[in-house]
Amino acid sequence: MTWIDDDAFGPQHPFGPQTLAYGLVDEGLAVRVGNQALPLAELNLGERLEPLVKAENLNPLLAAGRIAWSELRARLTEIVTASGAPAGARLVSLSTAKLPFAVGDYVDYYSSRNHAENVGRMFRPDAAPLLPNWTHLPVGYHGRSGTVVGSGTPVVRPKGQRKAPDAAEPSYGPSTRLDIEAEIGFVCGGPVTSEVRTRNAAEHIFGVAVVNDWSARDIQAWEYVPLGPYLGKSFATSIGKWITPLDAFSAARVPVPEQPNTLLDYLVSEEPSGLDIRLEVQWNGTIVARPPFAEMNWSFDQQLAHMTVNGATVRPGDLFASGTVSGKNKEERGSFLELSWGGKEPIELADGSTRTFLEDGDTIVITGWAPGPDGSVVGLSEVTGTIRPAA
Ligand code: CA
Repeated sequence: MTWIDDDAFGPQHPFGPQTLAYGLVDEGLAVRVGNQALPLAELNLGERLEPLVKAENLNPLLAAGRIAWSELRARLTEIVTASGAPAGARLVSLSTAKLPFAVGDYVDYYSSRNHAENVGRMFRPDAAPLLPNWTHLPVGYHGRSGTVVGSGTPVVRPKGQRKAPDAAEPSYGPSTRLDIEAEIGFVCGGPVTSEVRTRNAAEHIFGVAVVNDWSARDIQAWEYVPLGPYLGKSFATSIGKWITPLDAFSAARVPVPEQPNTLLDYLVSEEPSGLDIRLEVQWNGTIVARPPFAEMNWSFDQQLAHMTVNGATVRPGDLFASGTVSGKNKEERGSFLELSWGGKEPIELADGSTRTFLEDGDTIVITGWAPGPDGSVVGLSEVTGTIRPAA
């Protein structure tokens, strides 16, 4: 028994001692223990770590780099598994948690072959579903960090310009094809640098979170040629409020499915860097998809190497997302565009209603977990969002 006298805190709980996700509550930076939070500011962590955890957000810790991250995780493991309560330890509510870091640059990838092919078939029905570059590089674009929001933030239906295929002219108004993208996000840290090698990528990845990259398909379909996604994506991106450290995924590493062609040297992973994370998407309480992250075709180390290979830097607080996670089977697709096949195949919810795209008042919850050491489960913090009518 540890001093944390709570049935919800043990290896069988997704936020047991094997996870130790970081967040920010009213009492300051904290680590999640079961269904409560342990604030860090009053703990005896030593001179090097204490200033980092007394900061107003995670960014100084992100900047401190992997040696500090490992030291803090080891110390917190001792603290949460001690039999007596260590000095300064008290448990507080999770309810005041907020987005725990200032988001720097945001990049969105497109790393599921299943998703890319599905979208290709719908958006470009007369061409090959996969464009020729896709198997040679992780396709991505720079997104908008200012609208990355914490889980629970309502999402206002975006307005914009769209044109139906049979319409003569574009029109302006609220999106009628509002969608989700179930993704995994990577929170960056360590020294500012460029040309990160795949073997050094983990030095710059602090942690992992579930992301919902809300997408207005009608706006996107009209605007995206030739420069890619723009206003159909930039209105909101939601992220889980507790960041699970990359170190917690040691038992979840899997090889990434091989590309059909030889990769350029800078994209070759030396170790398995896929992550066996299982996602679950709930639409108004009905589970509509279980996307498997292990099937993603590009991994975080390849994505970070690619992002910085031209001399661009990675900085503490930068965030990149994997791209929509879609498996081979229909019930594994991580967007409603794919689940409803462009709106042609409605999805039935538990209350008997049907949906193709999001309606005002709808609530989406995306959860995630991965296998942990010794049969335990490593949790990712859920991402929720409810759609508000267009302003
Ligand atoms: Ca996306």
